[in-house]
Amino acid sequence: MLVLFSKCMILEALFTGAAIFCVEAVRTFASEFVTEVVYRWKNSRTKAKPDAQQNSFNVKTAQATVQDLETIDAEIVELERKARRDGSSSRADQDRQQELEQQRAEKFKQYEAAKSEEILSEQAENAENYIASVLSSDRVHVLQYHMGQVVLEKKCSACQRPMILQSRQRLDGSLYRLEDFFWSCTGYFNPAHLQCRGTQPFRKQDSAFLHKTNVLELTVSNADLSSIFESRSVQNAVVERVKSHVKEKDQEIMCSIHHVPMTLRERREHSGAALDMFFLGCPHPGCQQTVKLKSAAQLAAYLQRKEGRGIL
Ligand SMILES: [Zn+2]
Ligand SMILES: [Zn+2]
Repeated sequence: MLVLFSKCMILEALFTGAAIFCVEAVRTFASEFVTEVVYRWKNSRTKAKPDAQQNSFNVKTAQATVQDLETIDAEIVELERKARRDGSSSRADQDRQQELEQQRAEKFKQYEAAKSEEILSEQAENAENYIASVLSSDRVHVLQYHMGQVVLEKKCSACQRPMILQSRQRLDGSLYRLEDFFWSCTGYFNPAHLQCRGTQPFRKQDSAFLHKTNVLELTVSNADLSSIFESRSVQNAVVERVKSHVKEKDQEIMCSIHHVPMTLRERREHSGAALDMFFLGCPHPGCQQTVKLKSAAQLAAYLQRKEGRGIL
């Protein structure tokens, strides 16, 4: 279904390969939706930040920025290691660490800007590859498919940090509903003095989700995807494929604290169920940040990122 949204079209959140728009009214079918909405948004941003646009030719790509973030983190890890070994750290090392933390924060802002720009340009230039659908409980796998990413353009109202999309867990195996989802501040995981527990309810009404048309898992309903995934043979094949990537980096999923790509891990003790086996963890020593791969849609998205093919 492709729909045209009239009146105000506000970008609510931006993911790699997807975006959520708040719309005042949903009207007729039209294919110009994506181009129009993306250009409108880009224009509004160019007006808001003329300097940033002028300098855009020497702005690094998101991927180059990720490498810089990894280099910064590696030096911090080294300083932390040294402090543990020596039992204390010198004044010079403390200053350097503070400087690096500052650089990391700056660099992450650059990453967010570069990534937003890349995603929106991609969406605008390849509008025919995108489809917009109205969110409903039968489409929650569309949300799950994009979970784990630091959500661009979605800021915590309390502290302005970026947010992530979370859902409560349905341990009884029942189907997820839109009500299960919410936005959580990435500052939630910071040490106590820097912590922010900001959350926002997921906007149910007037939300449209824009995503790629070529994702097979998103062309079926949430219920259908779940029942396909109940098949043992499907699960076994998925587990085998995912397992082959253990310890690899996932460029799209970054630690909320250290801003470096997370790596795939297999749980030491699990029930043997595909949805209970894998998670992404931060490579920074001692970091407890994880993103569980706890839905068929998330496993599909993971495999799509890694192999260019999902689970269907
Ligand atoms: Zn916050
Ligand atoms: Zn971390």
